[in-house]
Amino acid sequence: MENYLEQLNDSQREAVVNTEGPSLIVAGAGSGKTRVLTYRIAHLLANGVAPWNIMALTFTNKAAREMKERIGTIVGANVSQRLWMGTFHSIFARILRMEAERIKFPSSFTIYDSADSKSLIKSILKELQIKNKEYKPGLILSRISSAKNDLVLPGAYSRDQQRLMADRASKVPLVYDIYQRYMKACYKAGAMDFDDLLLNTNLLFRDNPDVVARYQDQFKYILVDEYQDTNRSQYLIVKKLAELHKNVCVVGDDAQSIYSFRGAKIENILNFRNDYPGYQLFKLEQNYRSTQLIVNAANSIISRNKGQIKKVVFSENEPGEKIRIFSAVSDMEEGFIVVNDLISRRHAARCAFSDFAILYRTNAQSRIFEEALRKNNIPYKIYGGLSFYQRKEIKDLLAYMRMAVNPRDGEALKRVINFPARGIGKTTLDKLEAAAASNDLTVWDILTHPNLPKAGFNAGTLKKLNSFVALVSSFFRQRESMDAYELTTEIVAQSGLLKEFHQDQTIEGQTRLENMDELLNGVKEFADNRRETGEPNSLEFFLEEVSLLTDQDNESEVDVAKVTLMTIHSAKGLEFPYVYIVGVEEGLFPSQMSAMAENDLEEERRLFYVAVTRAEKLVTLSFARNRFKYGESTFASPSRFLREMDAEYISEDSQQVTGTLKSSASFERREPRKKYDFSGSSTSRFNSRGKFSKIGSEKSSESVMQNDAGTSGLGAVTRVQVGVVVEHERFGTGKVIGLEGVAPNIKAIVEFKNAGKKQLLLKFAKLKIL
Ligand code: ATP
Ligand code: MG
Repeated sequence: MENYLEQLNDSQREAVVNTEGPSLIVAGAGSGKTRVLTYRIAHLLANGVAPWNIMALTFTNKAAREMKERIGTIVGANVSQRLWMGTFHSIFARILRMEAERIKFPSSFTIYDSADSKSLIKSILKELQIKNKEYKPGLILSRISSAKNDLVLPGAYSRDQQRLMADRASKVPLVYDIYQRYMKACYKAGAMDFDDLLLNTNLLFRDNPDVVARYQDQFKYILVDEYQDTNRSQYLIVKKLAELHKNVCVVGDDAQSIYSFRGAKIENILNFRNDYPGYQLFKLEQNYRSTQLIVNAANSIISRNKGQIKKVVFSENEPGEKIRIFSAVSDMEEGFIVVNDLISRRHAARCAFSDFAILYRTNAQSRIFEEALRKNNIPYKIYGGLSFYQRKEIKDLLAYMRMAVNPRDGEALKRVINFPARGIGKTTLDKLEAAAASNDLTVWDILTHPNLPKAGFNAGTLKKLNSFVALVSSFFRQRESMDAYELTTEIVAQSGLLKEFHQDQTIEGQTRLENMDELLNGVKEFADNRRETGEPNSLEFFLEEVSLLTDQDNESEVDVAKVTLMTIHSAKGLEFPYVYIVGVEEGLFPSQMSAMAENDLEEERRLFYVAVTRAEKLVTLSFARNRFKYGESTFASPSRFLREMDAEYISEDSQQVTGTLKSSASFERREPRKKYDFSGSSTSRFNSRGKFSKIGSEKSSESVMQNDAGTSGLGAVTRVQVGVVVEHERFGTGKVIGLEGVAPNIKAIVEFKNAGKKQLLLKFAKLKIL
C-alpha cells in the first residue's frame, strides 16, 4: 500500500491519525483541509474500518467523486466505492428513500428544482388570487427556504412574530399561508425541494428513535468538509447522528464562509466547541497551493474583517508575481483585455487552457467572456447559468421521465399534459387543477378518479385525457421491469417527443434533437455503468442523480483542456494556476446590497478572499468603467477592495491604477453613478470584430490616469464633430459618424478603418483630431 502518511506535513499527519473523538480543523485556504479529510478516511479504511461505517459530507458531488478516487488509489476502488460520501442532499435523499414510509412519502419521491418550486408558488398565488406584484416567487421561496433551514414549520411560522413582521415589512404578509399550501402541495405530489431533504431528515430522526438509533450505530465516523457553510438544518443532522460514537471531524475556514444568504451559520463552528467540550483542535498553517505573494495578499485582505478566528497562514512556495489590475473602458472591453492577456500568458508560460479560470460575482457576467473566448476560438467550460438540464427540451423529456416514476408529480404533469400538443387546452387544465384543489387531491388523482366522466368535460376532451392517462400509466407499469435507458427510449418514442422534434427542420429543432440524444447517451452510460457495479439502474435512480447536481457539477461535455468560467461561490475548494477575478467594481463586487450593511460587506470580503486564494501562481483583477445593466450603460467605479489592498502586493504597472484609485474618491464625487441613455443593444454597440491585439496592463492603467485627469477628454468634447477624422491610440484612425448624449457623457460613434464601428465616451477616449 502507498505510504500516504509521507505525503503530509507533521500537523496534517496528526490530524489524520488521531481519528477517535470529536475533531475540529479550522485553517486557512489551501492549507490541506480537504487533503487531511481525504487521508483521514483512507487511514480509517486502512485500519480496518468498514466503508459503510463512514459518512463523509462534501460541498459538491464532484468533490466527493474526486475524494473517492483518491481514496480508491490508496485502499482500492472496491472499498472506496462503498463509502457514504456525497453532498448533504444526496446522502440524505438516499436515506429518505429508504425510510420514506416513516414520513409517508413514496420512496420514489420527486425532487423539485427551483423552477418547479417557483411554478408551484405561482399556482398557489393564482389559487389565492394574489395579484400584488410584491409577491415575487423567488422572494417567497427564499422566505420559505430560510424557515425550513431553521426548522420552522408552517404552523410555527404563523406564530413567529419576527418572521411575520419581516414579511409585513416586505409587503408580503401572506407568506405563512403560501408556505402552508406549498408544503401540502409538495406532499400530495410526492415531491420534496432541496430544503425538504434536510428538513425531512430532521423530522424523520426526531419522530423515529429506532431509525435514528440504527444510523447512529452505523455511522461510526462522520466527516464534514466546508463546515463553515453548513446551515442549522445540516448542523442538527450531524449532531444527531454523531451522538452515539462522537467521532465527528469537521474542517472549515471561517474566513471562507460565503453562504449566509442561504442560511449558513458561522456559529456552527463555535457551537462545535460547546457541543463537544473534549474536542481536539488541529491547526494547519502552511499553504501549499499559492505563491507567498498570493498568501500574504489574501491575509491582508481578510485582516480587514473584524469577525474572524485568528489564524496563521504562510507559504514556502516561490515568492511569485505581484497581482495585476486591468482597467477597461467598458465591460465589453474587459472581456477582450482579459482574454487577450490569457492568450499571451498561455504562450509565455507554455501551459494549458485548463490552467486558467475566470471568476465573477454574478452569472450574468459570463456572457461577455464567453463571447471574447469564442471569437478567439478558445475552448471553455462554464458552470452554473443555464445548464444542460435546464434546457427546455431536456426539461420536457425529464418531466415525462418523472411522470413515469411518480405520476402525482404536479409540476411535471403541467409540463407535458399538452406537450406535444394533444388538444388538452388551458381551460381543461385549469378545471382539473381547480377540481384537485377543492377535493384536496392531485391532478393525477382527478384524472384517474372513477368520477372523472361526471366532471363536466365533453366527450372529446375526456377521450384525450384518457389517452394521456393510458400513456403515462404504461410508462409507470414498466418502471421496474426496464432499466433507465430502455424506459427512456420507450418514453421518447411513445410520448411523441421524438416526432415533435424530428418534424422541426430548423436549426433550433436540430439542436433540440441533438440535446435529447445527448440525454439518452447519458442515460445509457448510467444504466451500463450501474449494471457493471451491480447497483440499481432503473429510471428513478437516474433521476435522483440528475436532480441532485449542483452548480459545480453540471459539466456536460468531455473534459479536454478548457478555460473555466464560474462564479466565485462555485469556485469554493478549487484551485487554478492563473485566476482572473473580473468585474471588481462597486455595486457589483461588493454587491450593491452588501455595501450598506457591515455584516454583508464582511461576507463580500470573504468572497474576495475565497477568489484570491483559488490561485496558485498569479491573480489578475479587472474592472470596467462602464457596464451594461438592465439594458443601459451605467458608470461603474473600481471596487473598494482594490483600494484596500496593500500596494506592495500590486504590480508596478498596475500600481498606477491603484494609485489613481487611492485618489479616486474625488473622482467618484465629481461623477456620481449616473446613467445615460444608449439606444440599441450592447453587442451592436461594441461590435468589436477588430482585434484588440496588444491591450495590456500598461495601456489600461494609462486610460485610468487619463480618466482621472479627465480634462483632455472634456476638452475634446467641444471639438469633436460629426465628419471629423480622429485618431485613437488603440483603434487607429476613423471618422466620427455620430454623437449622442449630453455633456459630460457625450459619446461619439466612430467608424474606424481597421477596428470597425465603436462608440466611445469622449471623456474617456483619448481622441486626437486629425
Ligand atoms: P480550501 O480552503 O481552498 O478548501 P484546503 O485547505 O482544503 O483549501 P487543499 O485543497 O486540501 O486545501 O490543499 C491545497 C493544495 O495543496 C492541494 O493541491 C493539495 O494537494 C496541496 N497540498 C496540501 N498539503 C500538501 C502537502 N503536505 N504536500 C504537498 N501538497 C499539499
Ligand atoms: Mg478544501
